[in-house]
Amino acid sequence: MLRITELKLPIHHPEEALATAIRDRLRITPRDLVRYTIARRAHDARDKMDIQFVYSVDVTLRNEAPVLARCRRDRHVNPTPDTGYRFVAKAPADYAGPRPVVVGAGPCGLFAGLMLAQMGFRPIILDRGKVVRERTKDTWGLWRRSELNPESNVQFGEGGAGTFSDGKLWSQIKDPRHLGRKVLTEFVKAGAPPEILTEAHPHIGTFRLVTMVESMRATVEALGGEYRFGHRVEDIDVETAADGSRRLRGLRFQTGEAMAVGPVVLAVGHSARDTFHMLHDRGVFLEAKPFSIGVRIEHPQSWIDRARFGPCAGHPDLGAAAYSLSHHCANERTVYSFCMCPGGTVVAATSEPGRVATNGMSQYSRNERNANSGIVVGIDPDRDYPGHPLAGIALQRHWEERAYVAGGGDYSAPAQKLGDFLAGRPSTALGSVIPSYRPGVKLTDLAECLPEFVVTAMREALVAFGREIPGYDHPDAVLTGVETRTSSPLRITRGEDFQSLNTAGLYPAGEGAGYAGGILSAAVDGIKVAEAVARDLLAMGQAK
Ligand code: FAD
Repeated sequence: MLRITELKLPIHHPEEALATAIRDRLRITPRDLVRYTIARRAHDARDKMDIQFVYSVDVTLRNEAPVLARCRRDRHVNPTPDTGYRFVAKAPADYAGPRPVVVGAGPCGLFAGLMLAQMGFRPIILDRGKVVRERTKDTWGLWRRSELNPESNVQFGEGGAGTFSDGKLWSQIKDPRHLGRKVLTEFVKAGAPPEILTEAHPHIGTFRLVTMVESMRATVEALGGEYRFGHRVEDIDVETAADGSRRLRGLRFQTGEAMAVGPVVLAVGHSARDTFHMLHDRGVFLEAKPFSIGVRIEHPQSWIDRARFGPCAGHPDLGAAAYSLSHHCANERTVYSFCMCPGGTVVAATSEPGRVATNGMSQYSRNERNANSGIVVGIDPDRDYPGHPLAGIALQRHWEERAYVAGGGDYSAPAQKLGDFLAGRPSTALGSVIPSYRPGVKLTDLAECLPEFVVTAMREALVAFGREIPGYDHPDAVLTGVETRTSSPLRITRGEDFQSLNTAGLYPAGEGAGYAGGILSAAVDGIKVAEAVARDLLAMGQAK
């Protein structure tokens, strides 16, 4: 099979135009073309008056070799790459070694668990939260009734942090083994729309994620895996050998239970602050890492569609427009858009009482009134929270508490019109943009909820963004704060073997460990770590 990339067609093209474009590109007759499938479709909207679809297609020909030879100078015509996944290890049918344990049932833990189950190791997957349907009720409890369950919320429970999200499924990680393809293929098996395999910027939306997570659980259980919900790892047992080397031997739960363990994948996400403190107390090596803080911004989606797609705004094949922005400021800070959700809502994303944090989500249709995005400023340990590996958590908590107080102390979030934010005065009334955050917002001055350098940088960047997207700096756009859970504020550093630098048997993984950012990259990291665990389990068996 051949893959042709960069095949461009106007967005209004008839279906048969693609076959014609393929034949023209390869200089072949209709008889030579046996069939084709779309491998990827993106759109190029740089010229609003001439928006184009950009296809990659896999083509089967009657006789491939002469065509490939003829097109050898065309870098967009190549043999189709093999993106299939091959298991690196398989447990023998009579495998009687230790069952691997996965802590955390977010995208990373789910994929680590699924892979270990598919390789025949019957993993045990633990999560502090509840099964996804129960968790959904608790999450809505905060949004509708201002009732926070600290163990079952947007961050904690089956499906992890990405469950109530836009379900964006792309990533900028290097992926030479096409592990992202394995993730998307498993998602489709679990009920995701098949177009996620071909869209350049696929997304799922929140409702489908719930049923997909359930379906993946059923698959893992059918393969002999086991889930235990309501199990929060509260402590670990570490054995120290005479030479000072350390090995993880056990887990302890808030239920009072203890469990002797072999290898443990630790995929607890970026909000498991109590777990990070415990690991630090138990001597596991951690180090602070950069993350970002800022606010969520909302505009009517129609403004963004018009600015991005011009006369093609509303075209059903284009969907709601997204954007990605970045600005380097005079104060040496970089401000960028983060986790942009077209046609979505801003959500209450705290997991701790007395604190407010924002994020964004959407449904598959992306047809809510507003576009929202984090507008965040990169911060780093050396400059902004030096001295302690957990100092980033203290900083997050400080500003989340300020936001809680400024929001009125009932999980409403502080909000401000962009015009007032730029002018440095508190907002007293909304304009044409209605914020979507639930349980509600309190109009105030967001400068009180963010470090001064963040406020300065955002004031400069928002105006600059208005030059890129006309109307972006409209005075009625609404800012809601604070956006602090952008990524993990620390790294649980691991070695080449994927184990903790100083605690063998502990495999830190995913976003909380500082090795991923987003659903897809967390899932890919879960696969890599599961492969490392499987290899080690087999090696242990051979050593006996
Ligand atoms: P998590 O998903 O955070 O999962 C960690 C799991 O560990 C949780 O289920 C938690 O209950 C459990 N846990 C924590 N501590 C313990 C403990 N001590 N014992 C037992 N269990 C524990 N990313 C995207 O790519 N696209 C998006 O559209 C997107 N939108 C988002 C919207 C929202 C509202 C949020 C909050 C996040 C969004 N993200 C999005 C980010 C994405 O969700 C995360 O990057 C991803 O979930 C990280 O996966 P993970 O498995 O590493 O950790």
